[in-house]
Amino acid sequence: MLLFQFQKTISPLSLQVLIKVEACGVNPVDTYIRSGTHSVKPLLPYTPGFDVAGIIEAVGESVSAFKKGDRVFTTRTISGGYAEYALAADHTVYTLPEKLDFKQGAAIGIPYFTAYRALLHSACVKPGESVLVHGASGGVGIAACQIARAYGLKVLGTASTEEGQKIVLENGAHKVFNHKEANYIDKIKKSVGEKGVDVIIEMLANVNLSNDLNLLSHGGRVIVVGSRGPIEINPRDTMTKESSIKGVTLFSSTKEEFQQFAAALQAGMEIGWLKPVIGPQYLLEKAAQAHENIIHSSGATGKMILLLK
Ligand code: NAP
Repeated sequence: MLLFQFQKTISPLSLQVLIKVEACGVNPVDTYIRSGTHSVKPLLPYTPGFDVAGIIEAVGESVSAFKKGDRVFTTRTISGGYAEYALAADHTVYTLPEKLDFKQGAAIGIPYFTAYRALLHSACVKPGESVLVHGASGGVGIAACQIARAYGLKVLGTASTEEGQKIVLENGAHKVFNHKEANYIDKIKKSVGEKGVDVIIEMLANVNLSNDLNLLSHGGRVIVVGSRGPIEINPRDTMTKESSIKGVTLFSSTKEEFQQFAAALQAGMEIGWLKPVIGPQYLLEKAAQAHENIIHSSGATGKMILLLK
C-alpha cells in the first residue's frame, strides 16, 4: 500500500512580523556596510539597522509566537531598522520583558548575542577563569562584562575615559584599566601575575593582538571580535603557551545557536544581570551624525541608539 504524505507548505512571507520601531541600535557594522568596506554588499536601495525594539503591528498567518501589541526586540531585520516600521523573520524576534525599556531593547541584539557567542561558544569559558574585555565600555564590551561576571569569571576591562571606566566597573568588571595609558599593559600583567589571563575578548585586534599574546596564560585564548586593519605578530608568542587566536562572527551562528543564546540571555533579563547601558542617543534623522561619531568616538559610555521620537 502506498502512503502519501501531504505537507502544508509554509511560505517565508507568512513567517514575517511587522514591528513599529521605537528605537534601533547603531552598530559599527552598520557603518562598514553603508560605506561599502564590509564583505557584505547589500542590494540597493538599502536601509541599515539590525537591532530594533518596538511593538508588533502585524503578524504573518503562520506566526504563532507573537501577536499584535507584543513588545519585542530583534537580532536582524529584513527591511532595515532605521525606519518607522521594520519587517523581520519571526525567528529573529524575541520578547522584550516589561522591566526593560525600548532603548535597552535596542541594545541587546548584536552586542549581547556577540558577547555570548564569543565567551561561551568560541572561548568555552569556565567559571573561575579570568577574562580581559579589551574595549569594555561600548555595546559588546559592557555585554561581555555582565555575562562574564554572571558566569563566574574574574573580569578585567579597559576603557579610555573616566566615565567609561566607571561604567565598566559598575557592570561586572572587578578591575578596569585605561587602554590609552602608556603603561597599562604592564599594569594588567602586574594585576594577573605570572599565570596571565585565560581569555581575551578583543575589540580592536589590529592595535592589540601582539600585546594580547603576551598577556595570555598557558592555553589562553584571544577571541577577535573587532579589527580594523592588519597587525604584525610573532607566531612564536603562541608556541610555548600553546595559546590560540580565534575569530568570531555573530552571523555564523545557526538558528539553533541563536535560540540557545536567546534562552540564556532571556534568563539574564529575568534574573536581572542583563541590563543594557545606554550611551549616546540620536533622533533617526541624525543617523549620519551617529555613524560619524561611533567610528570617531571620543570615548564610549554604553550602547549608541537611534530614537524614533
Ligand atoms: P562601540 O560601542 O563603538 O565600542 C567600541 C569599544 O572599543 C569601546 O569600548 C572603546 O573604548 C574600545 N576601544 C577603542 N580603542 C581601543 C583600544 N585601543 N583598545 C581596546 N579597545 C578600544 O562598538 P561595539 O559595538 O562594542 O563593537 C566593538 C567592535 O566589535 C567593533 O569593531 C565592531 O565592528 C565589532 N563587532 C563584531 C561583531 C562580530 O560578529 N565579530 C559583532 C559586533 C561588533 P573607548 O571608547 O573607551 O576608548
